[in-house]
Amino acid sequence: MNALAQDLIHDLKASVRTIPDYPKPGIMFRDITTLLGDPRSFRRAIDELVHPWAGSKIDKVAGIEARGFIIGGAIAHQVSSGFVPIRKKGKLPHACVSMSYALEYGTDIIEMHVDAITPGERVILVDDLIATGGTAEGAVKLLRQTGAEVVAACFIIDLPDLGGAAKIRSMGVPVRTLMEFGGH
Ligand code: AMP
Repeated sequence: MNALAQDLIHDLKASVRTIPDYPKPGIMFRDITTLLGDPRSFRRAIDELVHPWAGSKIDKVAGIEARGFIIGGAIAHQVSSGFVPIRKKGKLPHACVSMSYALEYGTDIIEMHVDAITPGERVILVDDLIATGGTAEGAVKLLRQTGAEVVAACFIIDLPDLGGAAKIRSMGVPVRTLMEFGGH
């Protein structure tokens, strides 16, 4: 990485606020609202995330509720694609396809409108952070179930100790992240 890129990532990382013991003891919550609230950081984060796909054809960006909507919407605008929301069960108004995914304890269900993707469409999956990768794994399966080609998965933050990015790469999906934090 060149010096300019290192400075940029350092500045971006400094714009993320860490809240210890939220929502429960032992969790270091990585709060991106401070990054989003800073005009320069927000723009740079979006520019950096889409960089590898500038100029390639992307049909849809799929964002995971809720912070993935903010980042995914900005990325979709940048690459001139459509946007598809992936939501928790029961939130979308039309007929849905669903997929259960692993949480730390138990499982949950995510959904997407059944007609949101046309088979063969090239899709980028977006969320703010990847931890264990359970949510993103469910989203990749959901997208593939509707015939999407998942071109990449993008996250501002990676918690590499939890292995999520490696899990998504092992599914054959390239993963792009901008910064790492140790632990969870
Ligand atoms: P996972 O399914 O374990 O990869 O968890 C990813 C989801 O949980 C993302 O939607 C994140 O926003 C959220 N998340 C998990 N861990 C953290 C953390 N330490 N700080 C902020 N958000 C987190």
